[in-house]
Amino acid sequence: MKRIAVAKPKLAGNERQYVLDCLDTNWISSNGKYIPAFEESFADFCGVKHAVATNNGTTALHLALVGLGLQPGDEVIIPTVTYIATANAIRYCGAVPVLVDVCPDNMNIDSSVIEAKITSRTKGIIAVHLYGHPAEMEALNQIAEKHGLWVVEDAAEAHGAEVSGQRVGGLSNCGIFSFFGNKIVTTGEGGIITTNDSELASRLVLHRGQGMDVNRRYWFPVVGYNYRMTNIQAAIGLAQMERITSYLEEREQLAQWYSEALSDMGDEIVLPSTRSWAKQVFWMYNIFLKDGDAETRDAVMSELGNAGIETRPVFYPMHVMPPYYEQASYPVADTWSARGINLPTHLEVSRSDVEYIASKLRLAIATVSDNRGLTSPVAERRLRDAA
Ligand SMILES: *Cc1c(COP(=O)(O)O)cnc(C)c1O
Repeated sequence: MKRIAVAKPKLAGNERQYVLDCLDTNWISSNGKYIPAFEESFADFCGVKHAVATNNGTTALHLALVGLGLQPGDEVIIPTVTYIATANAIRYCGAVPVLVDVCPDNMNIDSSVIEAKITSRTKGIIAVHLYGHPAEMEALNQIAEKHGLWVVEDAAEAHGAEVSGQRVGGLSNCGIFSFFGNKIVTTGEGGIITTNDSELASRLVLHRGQGMDVNRRYWFPVVGYNYRMTNIQAAIGLAQMERITSYLEEREQLAQWYSEALSDMGDEIVLPSTRSWAKQVFWMYNIFLKDGDAETRDAVMSELGNAGIETRPVFYPMHVMPPYYEQASYPVADTWSARGINLPTHLEVSRSDVEYIASKLRLAIATVSDNRGLTSPVAERRLRDAA
């Protein structure tokens, strides 16, 4: 049977050659030429002065917050719909993630509800460019400026996304990216912080390397971390950066195929949309069921799974997770995250795979509504067509 993964890396360039170079030259740890080369290429790509590579995206987030001076008891505003690392990094500093609801069209932080959550302890906002669609940076930066806050872009899912023609990662105090195996470009595990602030960049380098004074070896003026990237990771990353432009074009093409193949399903699902000022990069191509709840959604995913199509649910909101549980309701997040499905989004998904996924999705939604006694004319027609 056909099996289509939800995500997978593409290692079709110089990855192998550069990694073998690390092995052949003995430079396999966190010194070596690929680390600065990768950092420079990523900084150039984002149009920023500095890029500081780390061993993963979560440590990049934590290191960014350390560099910005986040202290126990401080508060940081984040969208309730995000990957757990955004909230965890704040908790690692002993600080408190303060949740806000998201926009219904792209599940990003809703800037119109932020100010109600600002207190005297608020230090900053983390804008997550979820699934590759950038957050409302202009509005967020204005709120931050008015209240004396910093802004961090969690761009872990958005390499190459743009706001008004400018790439993410350079649109606020600093940005962080992840290079996990399922991200837009990968180093296996890896992360990076991008910034135009030279003093912040020095603090990041200091704390990344155990806090060792860069001018005095084995002298440690602060408590730092070992969050260093290895030369092998950077070797893979450099090869990935050589191809990133075409990888982004291929993702855009894939998204277009999906939107065409699913365009007649307007009664059943909501397709991705893009804000007028945004360029999104489709880390994941998401669809949302127009009706139903998490149970319906999970049943649709299970039907797709039976057809060999791997999918994932859109992230559960932070306020339903045990570590960040709140009784409060966040209406947009509650309704739409429960109905969201990530479809297979990677560079080996072909046009005929997309046709196959679209036909199985039609059938899955009809079968599930039939099983739940929610038969509609559309569902009946789909089931008849498939019989
Ligand atoms: C992947 C991801 C991270 C963390 O990255 P890792 O490299 O997996 O540690 C942080 N934030 C978001 C939004 C992510 O998707």
